[in-house]
Amino acid sequence: MPNAPVAKPRDSVDQDQFLTILSREEAVARFEAALFPGDVVSERRSLADALGYPLAADIVAPIDVPPFDRSNVDGFAVRSADLAGAGESAPVRVALNDEVIACGTAPLRPVTTGTATSIATGGPVPRGADAVIMVEHTQPAGRDAIEVRRAASPGQFVSYAGSDIARGEMLLRAGTMVGSREIGMLAACGIAEVSVARRPRVAVMSTGDELVQPGQPLRPAAIYDTNGAIVTAAVSENGGDAVFLGAIADDEQVLEAAMRQALAGCDMLVLSGGTSKGAGDVSHRIIARLGAPGIIAHGVALKPGKPLCLAVCDGKPVVILPGFPTSAMFTFHDMIVPILRRLAGLPPRADAQVTARVPVRIASELGRAEFVMVSLVQADGGLIAYPGGKGSGAITSFAQADGFLRIDALADQMPSGTEAAVTLFTPHVRVSDLVIVGSHCTGLDLVTAPLARDGLSVRSISVGSLGGLAAAKRGECDLAPIHLFDENTETYNTPFLAEGLELVPGWRRMQGIVFRAGDKRFEGLNAQEAVAAALADPACVMVNRNQGAGTRILIDRLLSPARPDGYWNQPKSHNAVAAAVGQHRADWGMTIAPVAHAAGLGFIPLAEEHYDFAVVTSRKHRPAVQAFLAALRSPESRAALAQAGFRPATAEN
Ligand code: AMP
Ligand code: MG
Repeated sequence: MPNAPVAKPRDSVDQDQFLTILSREEAVARFEAALFPGDVVSERRSLADALGYPLAADIVAPIDVPPFDRSNVDGFAVRSADLAGAGESAPVRVALNDEVIACGTAPLRPVTTGTATSIATGGPVPRGADAVIMVEHTQPAGRDAIEVRRAASPGQFVSYAGSDIARGEMLLRAGTMVGSREIGMLAACGIAEVSVARRPRVAVMSTGDELVQPGQPLRPAAIYDTNGAIVTAAVSENGGDAVFLGAIADDEQVLEAAMRQALAGCDMLVLSGGTSKGAGDVSHRIIARLGAPGIIAHGVALKPGKPLCLAVCDGKPVVILPGFPTSAMFTFHDMIVPILRRLAGLPPRADAQVTARVPVRIASELGRAEFVMVSLVQADGGLIAYPGGKGSGAITSFAQADGFLRIDALADQMPSGTEAAVTLFTPHVRVSDLVIVGSHCTGLDLVTAPLARDGLSVRSISVGSLGGLAAAKRGECDLAPIHLFDENTETYNTPFLAEGLELVPGWRRMQGIVFRAGDKRFEGLNAQEAVAAALADPACVMVNRNQGAGTRILIDRLLSPARPDGYWNQPKSHNAVAAAVGQHRADWGMTIAPVAHAAGLGFIPLAEEHYDFAVVTSRKHRPAVQAFLAALRSPESRAALAQAGFRPATAEN
């Protein structure tokens, strides 16, 4: 499909900003034109050391395999014409030649009419013989002869020279990945060494003052370097020899020195971060000084991935991926992997596609080709593609997706119900045995653990209670975990059910005031007293919850008309509330006990929230649903839930 019209590049290139937003196709075409044709660098490797490398050149079979006509059975080499009349009632007697052809023994005597020679499996068929009969179909007849009671067809039990591999035939093509089977073929031909593509050395670097390597303690305001690890792994997955150089601070001089050093020792450089126009984003400016021709594309009409920067410096590709991990991964897989594979001598990656129905409308930005990660579930009417709704900063939207769909640059949405082509990340669709769509809770993992042990795969898609309920009504999942409070009836969940859904009680989650342990304003008080104390202190900052959350209703009731500082900070999850309090961005809020305890915070209980399951009745009979319901009731799960701070529901509540 065509992309949106794009601006033509200007004559003078100001490297400092996105002057020219190219379409994805145009950017790839220019990058390839600047890099190829370049030769794949090859090296000789012994068979054992060639494992996992792509062949650099076609390999033609130098010999026939087997090299001679070979017996497939233990028996006797014969002339089939001698046995034409043989049968159960008409045994034919043939004389034995004075020779036994063992494996590895070259025959000395021909088989002449009326004779046979004893031969072992793998032995060379002697001159004159054209078939082999199995020893089981013969009987000794004196010392020097046998009786045969079956006819033999010409060629019977003989593997002819070259029947497996013929000398001169194309054995393996360039680009074939050497695995154990390929090694077997090469060894059968006597080849001890092959020419394989040398893995391009790819330097991987992250940039940003905020980055900390996994394994190190996290400073305030810092995040873990995610791109470093994923790009390194993705380079290895696609034929590169990744050299991870760590995270470099946003310091132009330090970064330039590191980039120069990386390019001196490697064939390619992949950076992430620092490509937007934000303060401290310097990497793209440095590239302009690293070598000709420099920047090929900076800014691609692609979502995620707009700030991608592609360059070639003295023949070596230099890529700056966007900072957000999902954008970085997506652009890497979509645009860099094909080039890396080509440099690595690998064939293009085979992308499998399936068609799936999109159950909700997906809004999209006009003018950019947008790629949306989706999770696939099998519904009665076919595959359903759920968009991962967490945005470009979410690593899980990439990691938990099965594939992606594309929304054309000229479209501002993909309507609900669209049958979309989904490109898979794996060769096949992974269809889960149990599909859970709704609100996520850490308790859910405790209940599904035994299913996983029994080999049942569980797919859990977090879309919130209302999203889950809608999916359940459409029959797109087996069950929807929900915690919806109805203000009119003051009850949870039941009022929200629809026909075809039934409620299975889950567990209770104690909601209450969370504060930093030791805070004298709250310690030892009940919820009403704690809120009164908070309101009495003008310096006390709260963190609220989003409109529509059951917890929000409780907070509003406690506050009555008061709107203390922090009221408009309305995060959407229990964990975000605990994080705000733990990091001193707020002094109190309302969350559930297990989250407060896991964060090491103080907690004042107030009211229980009901976390239940809307089960799709028509799917209840499915083995995985039954297994889930059994697990939910099991003493083990109930004990695990209680241990984690939840209260498993009883029949009464
Ligand atoms: P930047 O392109 O440097 O402005 O980064 C955009 C966003 O991506 C910022 O929120 C960065 O903190 C984040 N980011 C950049 N590099 C990484 C990385 N290696 N791992 C995780 N997040 C990153
Ligand atoms: Mg940065």
